[in-house]
Amino acid sequence: MKVTEHIAQAKGKTLFSIEILPPLKGQNIQSIFDAIDPLMEFKPPFIDVTYHREDYQIKERADGTKEKITVRKRPGTVGICAAIMNRFKVDAVPHLICGGFNRQETEDALIDLQFLGIDNVLALRGDPIKFEGSFVAKPGGYNYACELVSQINDMNKGIYVEEDLLNPAPTNFCIGVAAYPEMHMDAASMEVDMRNLKHKVACGSDYIVTQMFFDNKKYLDFVANCRANGITIPIIPGIKPLTTKKQLQILPKIFHLVIPEDLVKEVEKCKDDEQVRQVGIEWAIQQSKELMQAGTPVLHYYSMGKSDTVKSIASNVF
Ligand code: FAD
Repeated sequence: MKVTEHIAQAKGKTLFSIEILPPLKGQNIQSIFDAIDPLMEFKPPFIDVTYHREDYQIKERADGTKEKITVRKRPGTVGICAAIMNRFKVDAVPHLICGGFNRQETEDALIDLQFLGIDNVLALRGDPIKFEGSFVAKPGGYNYACELVSQINDMNKGIYVEEDLLNPAPTNFCIGVAAYPEMHMDAASMEVDMRNLKHKVACGSDYIVTQMFFDNKKYLDFVANCRANGITIPIIPGIKPLTTKKQLQILPKIFHLVIPEDLVKEVEKCKDDEQVRQVGIEWAIQQSKELMQAGTPVLHYYSMGKSDTVKSIASNVF
């Protein structure tokens, strides 16, 4: 079922959902099942699975010389989606990125998803890989997520990249996209980012999932700004509980966001990361309750492949 249909069926009740990461290459899928099992009591109608493209590593040979090798640390997005649907009977939402794909490869990936009975895709650009300062599209691929959205939307109309197909069947994907309440780091301004988001929505997006934020006002202002700009599709907040002191530095840098002063003070008082985790849980509970009160359709938690923190939050909210 489509994410938008789950939202419509909930009739205003806030739904619970999570994002998980494929395990590191070589690990068993059991770790994914173990992370999802304890969260099933909150009845997630859908679970997102991130996509991780290849990256480069410098490897030292036995003779001391160095070589640049390609590694993919977390493969398996599509396989995990199929396994989740099979085991938990919930919808799995694979993330699909522009980076590393040309149009034909994207088309083939979408055909696989369709054959597996996957109804939703989160369409993203992807981040630059190491050794590339800024995002570089594969030849014949896309620079922006809006182009990927257009391709999926075309397939939904039966228009394939490969022409001369005999009676090509339309797909029926529900298309999710990302957005950034505190602005995407590449954007010149909030206005430019909003204009680009508006275009991405016009290309056929069905719903939005936001980057994490720690100040609800940022999300609520962003939603109001979207509505003022004529964006009417559901906007699902992404919630990430803080779990380590180090994240005070890392998260703002990587995700271009501000951690509120009150939260920083609480975290700085903590003696160890277990105490930080408790502070993070309390903060996320407050955030979640307020967002639910404000009528958000879904609370979407970045679980990072672990269930205990999200479970502690959800038991106090749902
Ligand atoms: P876009 O929408 O293409 O935007 C990227 C930048 O380009 C923005 O600054 C935007 O303003 C600008 N822009 C957009 N369209 C245009 C245009 N037509 N002309 C000029 N400028 C334009 N990454 C992964 O690799 N795998 C994942 O699984 C993954 N999951 C994610 C899930 C969520 C909910 C979020 C919020 C992010 C996720 N990411 C993931 C990270 C994401 O790939 C990066 O944030 C990436 O840098 C931008 O992706 P996007 O789809 O928002 O890009």
